[in-house]
Amino acid sequence: MTRQGPASTRREFLAATAATLGLTVTAGAQPPPADLLIAGGRVIDPASGLSAVRDVAITGSRITRIAANLPAAGARRVVDARGHLVTPGLVDLHVHVYDAVVPISIDADTACLARGTTTAVDGGSAGASTFAGFRKHVIARSRTRVFAWLNISRSVWPMPTSTPTCASSIPTWRQRRSTRTAT
Ligand SMILES: [Zn+2]
Repeated sequence: MTRQGPASTRREFLAATAATLGLTVTAGAQPPPADLLIAGGRVIDPASGLSAVRDVAITGSRITRIAANLPAAGARRVVDARGHLVTPGLVDLHVHVYDAVVPISIDADTACLARGTTTAVDGGSAGASTFAGFRKHVIARSRTRVFAWLNISRSVWPMPTSTPTCASSIPTWRQRRSTRTAT
């Protein structure tokens, strides 16, 4: 009985595994056609050091190939990205997306996802008393991946004093500042 040495290449390993399972491996088999081909854009990928005009083939939720001049034939959809940048999803570390609650906030998906930011970190629009609403109405409902810095105050922004809630008794930033100044 002879003992085989370790497969020297990944291809040999896969062929040996397939043979064990009774499968046939076709040399030079083409990958399945892409669901989406992003063609001709400048691909910038800091993780791999790539900054060049390339085509990106995507099947399902995975990038299957990045190369120059990939064949468009067979791709279900082709996006002409010539003159555009193609990057991994961007991360914005300081946004305010408690839309319709905090005055300086904007809608997360309109402002972030539609402009290439797939992950955003809210810079403290919610405090301890208002974070539950932020999680329910912003984090859970946004297609953008939203994280949040929790503001050290309870509500962050002044509530209308006519609203009969406990939050109306919380001093505003301005009131607290003037209190500090006076003492
Ligand atoms: Zn801010």
